[in-house]
Amino acid sequence: MKSVIKDVKIEEGEELKGRILNIHAKTGSFKTPTKAPTSTELNAKKNIGFDDPFLNPIFEITQRFSPGSISNFYKTNGYHSRKIGEINAHADTLINRNLVKYFPQFRKDTILNDDDMLSLVDVQLESNINVISLPELKEDASLIEFKNNLERYWKYCESEKPEAILMPYLNLSQDPDLFREKLNYLADYEGSLQAIGIKFASPNTYRPNLRALASFSDKEFWVHCSSIKRANWNSSIPSSQLHILQKFGVDTVSIEIPMAMGDGNNAKDKPILKTKYFNNDKITIPSIEESIHDGNLICNCPICRQRNFNELTEDLKRYQGNRSINAILNDFSKIHEVYAATSEFEISRQRIKEGDLNKYFKEKEGLKDYVSAEENQTSLNSFSN
Ligand SMILES: [Zn+2]
Repeated sequence: MKSVIKDVKIEEGEELKGRILNIHAKTGSFKTPTKAPTSTELNAKKNIGFDDPFLNPIFEITQRFSPGSISNFYKTNGYHSRKIGEINAHADTLINRNLVKYFPQFRKDTILNDDDMLSLVDVQLESNINVISLPELKEDASLIEFKNNLERYWKYCESEKPEAILMPYLNLSQDPDLFREKLNYLADYEGSLQAIGIKFASPNTYRPNLRALASFSDKEFWVHCSSIKRANWNSSIPSSQLHILQKFGVDTVSIEIPMAMGDGNNAKDKPILKTKYFNNDKITIPSIEESIHDGNLICNCPICRQRNFNELTEDLKRYQGNRSINAILNDFSKIHEVYAATSEFEISRQRIKEGDLNKYFKEKEGLKDYVSAEENQTSLNSFSN
């Protein structure tokens, strides 16, 4: 079958030292680790009239569901087609040149019944999506439930949309034994199933599961993690959580739709110099003032272009409408982060190639806590070709 992904090859890698995957897709080959921009980030571009494209090979269209609202798909007239319309508003312009995936975001205590699951799959099959996400039924679904869900929908998706690939998701927030059993089960499908999704949860709490994922990284699957929080906002200088996972064999990453006020960036009337802004020297998300030198932004990405911050703020005011200037700067900051984080992955990819990812982690304030004594061992498995 002429699937959208022809093959997935490990080009370079070592357990807990990151890996480089070569994903040979019909839409073009690319290497990992890298970032997939989301519909939230595409909307930010629209909000402030920024036309330059994101050049990433994969995009994720995210839709957030409040408790119970997934049932609207089969209980409310017009809902299903409205959701398809929202997806295709982004997907139609991307589908010929990119891998386009979908991620339904809902609370972790959500239990999906048969109708919910079928609706979430159908909305993707009927939209311009070529990587179909299959969520887990519930937080601690048993291995049997997991298997049945996968087998059922794998067959269904193959018959309905043979060119698309299926990405079954594993919740990072689950019992470590269960997580490992599910990974082992998926390992048997190496070569036929090409992609695995991970639903993000705290890398500190669920470290055993990340460790299991790292030991799985000699397997040739494309591993994508969705719903990553931009940062751990509890720390005084929030570190970018997006960049932690590459060490554990996660190839591509995308950020969750922030809850209102949830990304620490939306408070009205906050001094604009306190806008959170990704700093790639540190891999943290401190106030933008730390990335301004002599009045100019130090970043040279397509939206920052080392511009004078005051002039930039004045310039952005014309898109303000009835939104606060903080919200506008927040959109600006998200767009910067897509470019800057993607470029930063090009740097870390080079460091993986040099077998140097741990040294890279040690150099970065936001990553150094994720180097443990374990990583200083010399007897780790190399699985590079
Ligand atoms: Zn920038």
